Amino acid sequence: MPRVIAIANQKGGVGKTTTAVNLGACLADLGYRVLVVDLDPQGNASTGLGINVRELETSMYDVILHDAPLEDCVEGTAIRNLLVAPSALDLAGAEIELVPAFSREMRLRNAIEQVRDDFDYVLIDCPPSLGLLTVNAMAAAREVLVPIQCEYYALEGLGQLIRNVNLVKKNLNRELQVSTIVLVMYDARTKLSDQVGQEVREHFGDKVCRQVIPRTVRLSEAPSYGQPIIAFDPSSRGAIAYRELAKEVSRGPA
Ligand code: ADP
Ligand code: MG
Repeated sequence: MPRVIAIANQKGGVGKTTTAVNLGACLADLGYRVLVVDLDPQGNASTGLGINVRELETSMYDVILHDAPLEDCVEGTAIRNLLVAPSALDLAGAEIELVPAFSREMRLRNAIEQVRDDFDYVLIDCPPSLGLLTVNAMAAAREVLVPIQCEYYALEGLGQLIRNVNLVKKNLNRELQVSTIVLVMYDARTKLSDQVGQEVREHFGDKVCRQVIPRTVRLSEAPSYGQPIIAFDPSSRGAIAYRELAKEVSRGPA
C-alpha cells in the first residue's frame, strides 16, 4: 500500500499546493513512485506540474463523479516517477453534485484503491475548505499533513481542522491521523516566524518537521513555468529545503 497523505488546511494561500508539488517532486527524486492528486478545482497543482487543464480529456471530476478509472486521468510530468491526477474547474461543482451521490465520502478512497500497487506515495492536494472533497481526501488518506504559514493568525482555524479530522476518523476512517506539520513561508528575519514556530512546536511536538520551508521568491515563480522547484532552480534555498523535507517525511510519521 502507498502512504496516502492528505495535504489540508481550509485556509487558502497557506502553501498546500506548493508543498504537494515540491514534496512530491523531491520524493520522486529520491526514487519513490509518487502520485499527486489535485483535488482543488483551481487546478494549481496540475498547472504547477506543467499540465494544461483546458486540454484534459479526463480529470479528477470524472473520477470522483462518474467513476472514471483513476489511471485514465493520470498524466506524466517533467520529473521521473512523478505523476499527477489533474483537476479541472468543473470539480467546483462536485461539492454540490456529490451531496446526493451513493457513498459520496468514499469516491476517492475507492479510486486510489485501483492504483495501490503503482505508487509508494499518494499526496492529495486539498481545496481550501472542509467540504466533501476534503472529506474524500481524509477518508482516503492515512495521514494528514498540515502546512502552517509562519504568520499571525496561523493557528486560527486549526481547531476546526482537527475536529474534522477526528470526525472522519470516528465515522469513516479509523486509521486517520494528523501525522505531519510543516512550517512554511518561514522568514528568518522576523521574530514572528520564530514565535509561530515555537508555539506550533509546543503544541504539536514531534509531529512538526524539523525542516522549515523558507519564504523565497523562487518558490512562488516556479509554478508559472509549470515546474517544481528542483527542476526550475535546483540549487535554490527552496529546492534544498523541500529536498530535506522529503527525506524527513520518508523516514515515516512521528
Ligand atoms: P494553497 O494551496 O494553500 O492555497 P499555495 O501553495 O498556492 O497555497 O501558496 C499560496 C501562494 O504563496 C502562491 O502564490 C505560492 O506561489 C506562494 N508560496 C507558497 N509557498 C511559498 C514560499 N515558501 N515562499 C514564497 N512564496 C510561497
Ligand atoms: Mg492550493
